[in-house]
Amino acid sequence: MKIDSAESYIESMRELKRKIYLLGDRVDNAVDHPMIRPSMNAMAETYNVGDEADAADLLFCESHLGGGRISRFTHIHQDTDDLVNKVLMQRLLGRRTSTCFQRCVGMDGFNALYSVTHECDQEHGTEYHERLKEYLRFVQEENVVVDGAMTDVKGDRNLRPSEQADPDLFVHVVERRPDGIVVRGAKAHQTGALNSHEILVMPTTAMREDEGDYAVSFAVPATAPGITFVLGRQPSDTRKMEGSPMDVGNPGYGSQEALIIFDDVFIPWERVFMCGEVDQSGKVVERFASYHRQSYGGCKVGVGDVLIGAAQLAAAYQGVERASHVRDKITEMIHLNETLFSCGIACSSRGAATPSGCYMVDPLLANVCKHNVTRFPFEISRLLQDIAGGLVVTMPSEKDFENPEVAPYLEKYLQGKDGVTTRDRMKIIKFIENMTMGCGAAAYLTESIHGAGSPQAQRIMISRLGNLPEKVQYAKRLAGIES
Ligand code: SF4
Ligand code: FE
Repeated sequence: MKIDSAESYIESMRELKRKIYLLGDRVDNAVDHPMIRPSMNAMAETYNVGDEADAADLLFCESHLGGGRISRFTHIHQDTDDLVNKVLMQRLLGRRTSTCFQRCVGMDGFNALYSVTHECDQEHGTEYHERLKEYLRFVQEENVVVDGAMTDVKGDRNLRPSEQADPDLFVHVVERRPDGIVVRGAKAHQTGALNSHEILVMPTTAMREDEGDYAVSFAVPATAPGITFVLGRQPSDTRKMEGSPMDVGNPGYGSQEALIIFDDVFIPWERVFMCGEVDQSGKVVERFASYHRQSYGGCKVGVGDVLIGAAQLAAAYQGVERASHVRDKITEMIHLNETLFSCGIACSSRGAATPSGCYMVDPLLANVCKHNVTRFPFEISRLLQDIAGGLVVTMPSEKDFENPEVAPYLEKYLQGKDGVTTRDRMKIIKFIENMTMGCGAAAYLTESIHGAGSPQAQRIMISRLGNLPEKVQYAKRLAGIES
């Protein structure tokens, strides 16, 4: 593994020369930018073995392509143990960072493409699967971060890609050359975009016969000419530039989403994994979505672990940890969090081999998993805010705690239980603010509802996969209905 530590990952990011915009300005040094660095730190944790007893076995595994020991984030799932271990790894990293560590999207992308390219080659006589394997050998050997890019900007949601007034609202091929293709369009909400070495583009929906130019998948270095990144804003993001870590809440780590614009970007054929095979596009979308809906049964559960701990701490600092209603609320938080975990493990354990050898999660259970994730983190956050109290939004700034005039008053009047420093109490309150309505909420709440597809996308899949006619037969048989 060329990049073999958190430090060497950060150094590798320094070498990438890209076109990045943030708050209206071009950013030449993303690594040291205070609004970007926490998200890079979260990504860096995917390279860090850490000190958890099971971390090494979860974060690393054996390459099926002969690449030796590799990061699990570059791995193709070989059995249901791999699927389960993926979820366990995500829970571990969620606990470590309390945010989105961003690297799962690419992993879910190339696992989806692995089986689909195999089937596409069988059906169309193409050679995408070997190309993808070659690409994966590179990814595993260099241990680079691959950003999985699916969500197009979509314009008028009522119109198909080919019907849009502006044809560029879905990424598409604008030119086919002997040596490759030229693509144009944009992908929105791209998790970890600025922290990735590579971008793996996939179609955003099942394409129709006349939409061949939109049925396109490829990998491209983040530094390729024609690519522009515009970082999205998050609530209270500029607090990271104020120099008061306590006010940030989770100062070490953060998440990141960006708009990626492809303005006539050239892709050589060896990095193209779909080009015109419209019948394969829907499969990529469904498989990627299932993998990423599984993922949320790990990463958000890890964050939930931290939030449950924060609730207990806040209660203890205020002297109410033994109150029966507080204990009951914390029990409810644990129940909700472990329900999400159960879904993540269930869809993994019930996974099955595809003809390519790559293991696929149970899609119905993966959709149920993510659908619960669109709800339970909101209830966990509500209970957390309930326990933490109004100071979550009324607490003064860390700068006030540093002002000699007012600090003694704050220390005196904002103290909690005897033996707990006021600053420690304030730190956990600010952490809760961050996680439930600041930057942290972008990863824990908004991402929970819209990441890997908004709730309705899961309801469509649940309705489709729920096998209603069979259930009707069960009822008819027992009720003695023969018609
Ligand atoms: Fe990974 Fe979760 Fe972030 Fe998706 S939301 S990239 S699964 S940490
Ligand atoms: Fe996500």
